[in-house]
Formats: sequence, structure tokens, C-alpha cells
Amino acid sequence: MQVWAWKMSSLWATSRTVGRPAYDTTIESVSLPENVQRIVNSYQTGISNYLFKASCLTGLNGWQAKRTLPRQFIKFIEKAFDLYDQLVQFLLGHLHREGFSTQCAPGCTHCCCHMPIGVTAPELIYLYHGMHQSGHLAKFFRRCLEAEENWREILQSHVGKQCGGAQPTFVRETVLKQYQQLEHRCPFLQDDLCQLYPYRPLACRMHFSLSTPHWCRPSHFQNEHAVQFNLEPEEKIFAALEHLEDRLQLHLSDIMVCGMLELIVNVLKFQKIDLVS
Ligand code: SF4
Repeated sequence: MQVWAWKMSSLWATSRTVGRPAYDTTIESVSLPENVQRIVNSYQTGISNYLFKASCLTGLNGWQAKRTLPRQFIKFIEKAFDLYDQLVQFLLGHLHREGFSTQCAPGCTHCCCHMPIGVTAPELIYLYHGMHQSGHLAKFFRRCLEAEENWREILQSHVGKQCGGAQPTFVRETVLKQYQQLEHRCPFLQDDLCQLYPYRPLACRMHFSLSTPHWCRPSHFQNEHAVQFNLEPEEKIFAALEHLEDRLQLHLSDIMVCGMLELIVNVLKFQKIDLVS
């Protein structure tokens, strides 16, 4: 399977999408004209500004004990992610004009066999807010437990082979690959639709395919020829999310289901976050 990590900036910086090799192929040669790059930059600045505004809100100190957050906190994250979706659409339009048409459509869920990683605490809070909004917290919690168990089983089969000490860096990549190949469905999928679509993390918003959608299924015989790429946000957006994470004094696992379980059980204890004005 070919997976390209396409940075929206002019540089091919290190990818956050661990386990997804970057190949120097045609899509990487697509350059952004100056006017397009200017628009991309203004989107990126807008997104990080919203996240920065969220981190400047009063009412973040001691939020965990009170389980309250300023209403504006959720609004700013929502605006940042909406803007990110708009940016992605803008870039897909540019790629289309360059001859690269994506094949992704609602109902295709093959990329939801990936375990989202690199997920920050603010994203997990937003997702948790969505779980409560959906009215299905208990169901999603149970499914997250199952997913975490599947993840842990694979991890332990590798960690068990180590003779103590630090795990080699390739372990996570191997676990990610094996998890995907087992085609476990994301806990938030139902009837081939993401039940938390508006609240999904950035990792779920950046992945696209140029080849026929069936090829993205890990068990498809043509899977190794699937052509996928990531529209990865610029580093300043991740930096803004990490800054927000520091303000929240919350550091969770960046593996989506593991971080979510930590948040539900250890931090929020299943309680709804009250949004205050
Ligand atoms: S959160 Fe939604 S988009 Fe992301 S992997 Fe799960 S079902 Fe797919």
C-alpha cells in the first residue's frame, strides 16, 4: 500500500502519521501557486488562532475538579475544526484541478480500521463532549474497552518478546499495522457511518484515497496497490493543540481509545462536562 504524507506547508516535515511511509511520487510534486499558498496560510493561521483563543479563556484552571469548561472552549474547537475541513476541501479542489481525484465518500469506512494516533487531550475532550451529546456514552465506552483490549493484546505479543528495557521504536508501527490488518472497526462506527463525525479528531480528517475505495480494505488482494495520502496540518496547529493541552494540565495517551478511556474513567468519571458562560 502506498501512503503519502502530504504536508500543506512547502516542506515535507516529519510525519505524525507513524507507520505510514512517505513515498516520493507524483502527488508530492504538486506545488501550490503563490496565491493558493497564501490562502492555505491564512486558513492555517485562522485554525491556530481559534485554538490559541481557547487556551486564553479564563475558567480552565482547576476545570478537572469542577468538570466545567467555558462554553467558548467547545465553540473555538468547533470553529478550528470546521476551518480545517474547509481547508481540506479547498486543497482537494486544487488537487482535482491538477488531475488527482479522491475516491472517498460517505459509507466507505475502510480507513476506520486504522487506530487513530497522535490525538491530543483537547481533541479527546471534544470527542467526549460528542459522546455525551449522542446519548450513547455507555455503548461507546463498552466498545472503547473492547478496542483497547484488542490493541493491548497485539502490543503485549510484541512487548513480551522484549527482554525488558525500552521498547524499540518500530513496536508501535508494527502494532498499528497488525491492528489495521485485523480490521477491527472503530468503536464509533455504526451502519458504516461515524456516529461522532462532527467531533472526530484531526487524524480522521486528513486521510484520502486516489485508488478505488475497495482497495483500501486491508484484506483486499489489491490493498498493497492502494494509493492514499494525508493532508497533514502544519506544525503550528499541532503546537497550538499542545499548548492547549498544557493549559488544561491534561496529558493522556495519544492512542485514541486509550486516551479516551483514561479521560472517561480517571479524569471525568463518566460525568458530563458542564459548559458555563
Ligand atoms: S472516530 Fe469516526 S472517522 Fe475516526 S476512525 Fe472512528 S468512525 Fe472513523
